[in-house]
Order: sequence, then C-alpha cells, then structure tokens
Amino acid sequence: MRAAVIIPAAGTGSRTGLKTPKPFIRISGSPMILFSLKTFQRHRSIALVQPVLPKSYFPAFERRILNRYPLSKCRSPVRGGRERQDSVFNGLKALPDDIEIVIVHDAARPFVTPAVISAVISAAVHDGAAFAAVPVQDTLKRADSASLVEATVDRSRLWQAQTPQAFRAPLLREAHLRAASDGYRGTDDASLVERLGHPVRIVPGSSRNLKVTTADDMVLARALLARS
Ligand code: C5P
Repeated sequence: MRAAVIIPAAGTGSRTGLKTPKPFIRISGSPMILFSLKTFQRHRSIALVQPVLPKSYFPAFERRILNRYPLSKCRSPVRGGRERQDSVFNGLKALPDDIEIVIVHDAARPFVTPAVISAVISAAVHDGAAFAAVPVQDTLKRADSASLVEATVDRSRLWQAQTPQAFRAPLLREAHLRAASDGYRGTDDASLVERLGHPVRIVPGSSRNLKVTTADDMVLARALLARS
C-alpha cells in the first residue's frame, strides 16, 4: 500500500494578525509546517509528502526547510490556489498514479500524532474515506439573523472534524473532479466525498490536535509544546 500526504499550507493566515503565512510562523524556534513534515516523514506507511505553498514561499521553503532537515520523502512544493480546496486539488494532481491512499493534513495542525495517522489510514483502507474528529463539547444554539435563539441543538452525535483525513486515491480524485464541475465549495475534503454518497468513517482525534488560527492559538500551541 503506497500512501502520500498532501499538506496544504497556502493560506494567508490573516486571522493570526501577522504578516508571515501561518505555516512559517515559528513555534519554539521551528516553522509550524516543520512539525507535520517531520511527523509524516517518520511514519512508516507514508511514501511521499507533498507540500502546497504560496509560490512566493518556494525559495524560503527550500532554504529554511528542505536544505536544513532530513526530509527525504518531501517533494518540491506545488503552488496553492484561491481556497483550501483548490490547494488540495493542486497537490492531488501532482501525485504519482501509483499512490493508493491519500492523506490530507493541514500545516496549521502541528500536533498530529503517529497513532491518529495510522488510524485514519487503516479506516480509509477499509471504508474508503476517514477523518479524525472530536465530539462537540459546548452547548450548541441555532439563532436567527438578529441573534435570537431558535433552538438548542442536540450535540450527542455532533463531531468537530479535524485533519488528518485519508481516502482511497481514486475516490478523492473523483470527489474533487465532481466538486469542481458542480462548483461546490467545501471546507474539508471529507465533505466532497460525502456528497458522492460514499460512506466516511470518523476516528477519534484529540483536543491536542488543535488548529492554529488566531494569535491566542499560537500562545496555546507554544504552551502545549513546552509541556510535552
Ligand atoms: O484557513 P484555514 O485555517 O481553514 O486553512 C487550513 C489549511 O489550509 C492551512 O494549513 C492553510 O495554510 C491551508 N490553505 C491553503 N490554501 C488556501 C487556504 C488555506 O493551502 N487557499
């Protein structure tokens, strides 16, 4: 079984309030993307790592990452698109045909563990598509446009989707092609597969696998790292 991971890292990261794109912001001295690159490099099921970056960051990536760290599985970056979905699709088109399982993992989640990667791969081999998620903890309300509550939503079967997400390669290709031709925009890759009517398996993620979005998340990420 040949598996590859696409690492979308081509967002502007405007919500951090910093000029540097998120994947290049340093956490305890290392650019955020390096954490995911190293974790996937070390995972024995992964054959290839395909980063997706803004074109303007190709030289910095080569200089600060590819030339400095032993990342033999990491390929040259491909350029990102307007939205995350376009970036993943660009990564997908760059993968060799013999890849059987494709994992997608956001560079903005530096604390993914080998165990979660193994779990999504196994589930994708078995079911075709799978992702890591955590049960919703907060009480959920649906409100109208004036912020008046319409209902409290039953959260017992609700999950917060994370990455990694893993797929049999032909299924993910079909899902992206279909979404592109229908003009459908999803915020994750699993949603593109769901709309084909194909089952998608949830595997337990972890609250440590946080997505670094705001400046406060950066503080949290540094604290988590200091504790581990
Ligand atoms: O914006 P958001 O935090 O949802 O982005 C999730 C991941 O997708 C990030 O790692 C970001 O760099 C990436 N992304 C991308 N191309 C875009 C937008 C986001 O690769 N056009």
